[in-house]
Amino acid sequence: MTKFDLLIRNAKAVIPGDQIVSADIGIRGGLIAAIGADLGAAEQIVDAKGLPVIPGIFDPHTHIGNENSFESEAESETRAAILGGVTTIGIFLRSLEDSYTIHMPGFRKAMDERSYVDSIFHPQIFTEQQIAEIPLIADQYGIRSFKFYMSGMPGIVNSIADDRLLEGFKAVASLGPDAVACVHCETGALVTRARESLPQRKPEGTVADWTDAHPAEAEALAIQTALYLAKIAGAHLYVVHLSSRDGLEVVRAGRRAGHRFTVETTSLFLSLNTADENGMLIKMSPPVRAAEHGDALWQGLAEHSINTIGTDNTSRVRASKRPWAGLHGSRPGQPLLGTHLPSLLHFGRLRGIPLERLIDAATRAPAMTFGLYPRKGTIAVGSDADLVIIDPNLERRVDAADLQGMSDFSAFENKVLRGWPIMTIKGGTIIARDHRIVAPANGRYLPRAPAAAPDLAWLSTVLPPQG
Ligand SMILES: [Zn+2]
Repeated sequence: MTKFDLLIRNAKAVIPGDQIVSADIGIRGGLIAAIGADLGAAEQIVDAKGLPVIPGIFDPHTHIGNENSFESEAESETRAAILGGVTTIGIFLRSLEDSYTIHMPGFRKAMDERSYVDSIFHPQIFTEQQIAEIPLIADQYGIRSFKFYMSGMPGIVNSIADDRLLEGFKAVASLGPDAVACVHCETGALVTRARESLPQRKPEGTVADWTDAHPAEAEALAIQTALYLAKIAGAHLYVVHLSSRDGLEVVRAGRRAGHRFTVETTSLFLSLNTADENGMLIKMSPPVRAAEHGDALWQGLAEHSINTIGTDNTSRVRASKRPWAGLHGSRPGQPLLGTHLPSLLHFGRLRGIPLERLIDAATRAPAMTFGLYPRKGTIAVGSDADLVIIDPNLERRVDAADLQGMSDFSAFENKVLRGWPIMTIKGGTIIARDHRIVAPANGRYLPRAPAAAPDLAWLSTVLPPQG
């Protein structure tokens, strides 16, 4: 038996959807080669000292290149990611007008040459031409997921109307049962009216008033519409960043009605609420809401109404975030990759959510949804050796400089979070250790081949009694 390249001893291996086992993990050729006791010799040995070892976090929801260039953020933001225990990301690509065929080679090159994490792409679809190109893009670039905005953001992304959404769903469904239609669910007309009248209604608004610009009923109504249109088209709907209790109620109704769809929330929405002392730094679209919405989202996660957790990372610097400009002058978006896992560990513990439930939603569920399971999202022989050792009791105060992305602020800044990664192994190589980068980036863009429909076993949601 040849030696292992790397052996992790004394791991408490958290295997999503299965169990937590005490074992050693042997790695060879970038893959997990063995799990068990007394595995034998290795070039390099790491003693996990009984700490949890989890699959690398798969963040299905990021935006790269909204502030600096795509190429620059492909490096800087994935550096923050790998330090934070994230090893795979889904990137929502943006091309408001152009055909994606123009930009795709550049996006791919950046992720192949500069990224610390592996990546998949979800192109955002705005135009009729882009809808018509969905089969071509899928075929040429190995893409199985696309995104649609029912409500855009002025100056950032455009909304699409229901007719175009239905056409888009049909195009995605035509790719096969594994293809996914990701949707930002807010009813555009309701948000536009609320947002446009906000300065008159709340001239001295706080971040709590931002929820008035994105009323929860706009999210709830849009999910109903998207569920209906996806059913007509036969498309697998993936609701991105669920933010409200009202939206969750529609999700529950949809499950009771037998719809097959997948729901994501974000670590930001699970962690913070509008009473937060960081004010405009937490401003996001959709918004961080009042505490009762966060309570509902945790309940939704516990009962499996919510399936995946992403970040919606949209990195900015303070100078463009403009927190000093108040509600009407500051911009939505913040870097979240570096705090994703620590915030989940910290607030998940406070909520009494089992570690394995959290890790499942942050690893296996996105990997299954987006066609990368069991290569990603689990600890199994043959899977990519993307592993993170976490110290559930390590406390660190969040400081943007430590996160090592491009940004000079964090939505979590000055908060002490308990539970941090202390080592990130990506493709069998230790890339981050004790919050330092110790090896070159080895991330790759991952084209996806058509596959069978994902196993949506989690749709056997344990719903609370109706009423
Ligand atoms: Zn987003």
